[in-house]
Amino acid sequence: MGKPFQFCPMCAAPMLEKRFGVDTHPREVCSVCGYVHYVNPLPVVGTVPIWGDKVLLCRRAIEPRKGYWTLPAGFMETNETLREGAARETREESGAHIEVKDLLTLIDVPGASPSQVHFYYIAQLLDLDWQPGPETLEQRLFSEEEIDWDEISFTTVKTTLQHYFADRRAGRFLLHSYSLS
Ligand SMILES: [Zn+2]
Repeated sequence: MGKPFQFCPMCAAPMLEKRFGVDTHPREVCSVCGYVHYVNPLPVVGTVPIWGDKVLLCRRAIEPRKGYWTLPAGFMETNETLREGAARETREESGAHIEVKDLLTLIDVPGASPSQVHFYYIAQLLDLDWQPGPETLEQRLFSEEEIDWDEISFTTVKTTLQHYFADRRAGRFLLHSYSLS
């Protein structure tokens, strides 16, 4: 990935690349004040909101993949748990009332810049009284047969939905942990 900062966010001096002792990764370090800019993976949290044999999908109002259907998800915020983040993102994007259930997928995406780790929880919709947020053009429930897989936003979402429907057919839900490049 490219340099995250050309200049120090603390003192505006030029940043340099430096490797410290046994550290495995080179770091961006300020040439004057010594500030180190660590780049670490970002957790992405979301849900598979379910109602009977259907799942709630939201059509994205924003880039990337504007106009594609997706599950409610987004970057975890500081001072929240994974579950709280998944619930918050679902509220923000769909306005749906949910109860967060079990973790369904844990997906490493080491090739993203920076790397990401995605966590999708199954979530029971408590009612169908919802108000889509500004990041959502429209939303509705889909059965497995109604999904157009070419219209799904991301591989993380597609594989999560595939695991959900396969587990549903099998009559039990497991945690699926895998990696996508
Ligand atoms: Zn500095």
